[in-house]
Amino acid sequence: MRLEGKIAVITGGSRGIGRAIALRYAAEGADIVVNYRQDEAAARDTVAAIEALGRRALALRADVSRRADVRELFAKTVAHFGRLDILVNNAGINRVCFFEEITDQDWDDILGTNLKGPFICCQEAFAHLKERGGRIINIASVAGQYHGPKTVHYAVSKAGLISLTAAVARYGAPHGILVNAVAPGIIETDLTRDELRGPGGQNIVALTLLKRPGQLDDVASACVFLASDEQNYMTGQVLAVSGGAVLP
Ligand code: NAP
Repeated sequence: MRLEGKIAVITGGSRGIGRAIALRYAAEGADIVVNYRQDEAAARDTVAAIEALGRRALALRADVSRRADVRELFAKTVAHFGRLDILVNNAGINRVCFFEEITDQDWDDILGTNLKGPFICCQEAFAHLKERGGRIINIASVAGQYHGPKTVHYAVSKAGLISLTAAVARYGAPHGILVNAVAPGIIETDLTRDELRGPGGQNIVALTLLKRPGQLDDVASACVFLASDEQNYMTGQVLAVSGGAVLP
């Protein structure tokens, strides 16, 4: 039980990687706020799975790109569980297309969810985490390190998130708030299922040393490590869970 008694908010915790992190954290003894934006049924299903593990869980709707939603998310978390220990900025979206096809709306939506969202969540969580220290884990992507050709807006959002991780770590350090990022390679979820079936996804797999996509638990276990007392001296860093992606 590496997270016994901790209270964790996981944005986009209802599906995919966020759900896997939520279940691993619960299995390690944490109580969980499962944030979602629109799929309430998925969030309720994840809450039920956490409760089946014997932990408490709460599904809370909030669009991470909206300040008022996020403020309410943390206010309700603290009202329900009494405090906050861990924030995982996992909510993210992507729209695969070439640079010249990206619309202003695509840019605003992707930067809004993937970068402005974590910025707002870090700011709003700080007030609560400052009381006794805590952890922030940002789910970036190897795309933020190699500037993926078919996802320029997504790559820029994740590069920004890596920068935000290091920048916010400076402000967290005096308060005992450790801020790190996990950069997954390609993991099979709703976000990547179609891509993985096509040549684009197969090309990404071919660029890994392990020649296969990653599993949800590969990312979740890295997030347990970063949230736990197994490490107390890492901050502002990026942990790649990418099958040894060889960046072109
Ligand atoms: P996913 O299966 O599509 O799940 C996305 C989750 O984010 C859902 O719970 C969704 O909730 C939530 N969400 C989306 N926009 C939101 C918003 N504005 N506010 C609050 N919640 C929002 O995606 P995934 O593959 O698990 O990806 C999770 C994270 O890992 C993302 O940040 C992604 O960029 C990153 N990542 C994924 C991969 C991969 O290969 N899968 C690789 C590298 C990085 P609703 O269903 O309610 O909308």
